[in-house]
Amino acid sequence: MRIENEIALVTGGGSGLGAATAQHLAKAGAKVAILDFDAERATAVAGSIGGVSIKIDVSDADAVDHAISEVESHFGSAPRIAISCAGIGLAARIVGREGKTSFDVFDRTLKVNLYGSYHVMTHAARRMMELDPLDGGERGVIINTASVAFQDGQLGQAAYAASKGGIASMCLPAAREFARFGIRVMAIAPGLFHTPMMEGLPEEVAEQITRNIPFPDRLGLPEEYALLADQIITNPYLNGTTIRLDGAVRLPPR
Ligand code: NAD
Repeated sequence: MRIENEIALVTGGGSGLGAATAQHLAKAGAKVAILDFDAERATAVAGSIGGVSIKIDVSDADAVDHAISEVESHFGSAPRIAISCAGIGLAARIVGREGKTSFDVFDRTLKVNLYGSYHVMTHAARRMMELDPLDGGERGVIINTASVAFQDGQLGQAAYAASKGGIASMCLPAAREFARFGIRVMAIAPGLFHTPMMEGLPEEVAEQITRNIPFPDRLGLPEEYALLADQIITNPYLNGTTIRLDGAVRLPPR
């Protein structure tokens, strides 16, 4: 699918990978809607690219449905491109010191990362199904964001890895289900990227992480994520799989 003149929605577009993707798509000529919890940052990014921003919590299915209706009314048609970048990276041991359990972390992480992506996929896809097909029969493309933790989750990442594993695992059945409508579903599993999420880590942890990246031996740039999203949108033969974007990094146990 060509990006120019298409409507794209990007969750988590107020920051990091989502912001870079929103900017990239706007530069390529898309009309971009940013759905983010952080209204201030989302409005700033949307303002800089002539897009629109809507404050939502992606874990709320009705709010997602309503927000996509708003995008549809604003641009006059439903988006053909739906990219989920909204996510949280909470860490906790399953059973911590002195027996402290962490179901609250598991629950919240699954709700935002996995359920949030599921809700966006659901409510974007059901509208894409009603759009006219483009040349080649394509109606839309959905990109979800996993993490390399879906395969090499570290100690303390049980919740995060489970949420990202769910995103990777639902990619193929979703692509199979939506195939007859010409809607593709892909997932990107980033390694370690230079975003506010990573900036929150203690310096020694960040340094140790970078040491494990073979080449390029640095954190990934958000624009490199956007480049892969661009390729997924424009290359119709990419469907039903999760691509690691990681400089060959494999996360150590801790
Ligand atoms: P970030 O913190 O810079 O941006 C995340 C955005 O999501 C923020 O704008 C935040 O407001 C928004 N958000 C969080 N919870 C939300 C909710 N409930 N509803 C709506 N919006 C919400 O993070 P990032 O590094 O750009 O990460 C983007 C995605 O990529 C996440 O899913 C993350 O798990 C994944 N990822 C990031 C890295 C990395 O190294 N940065 C690596 C692997 C995977």
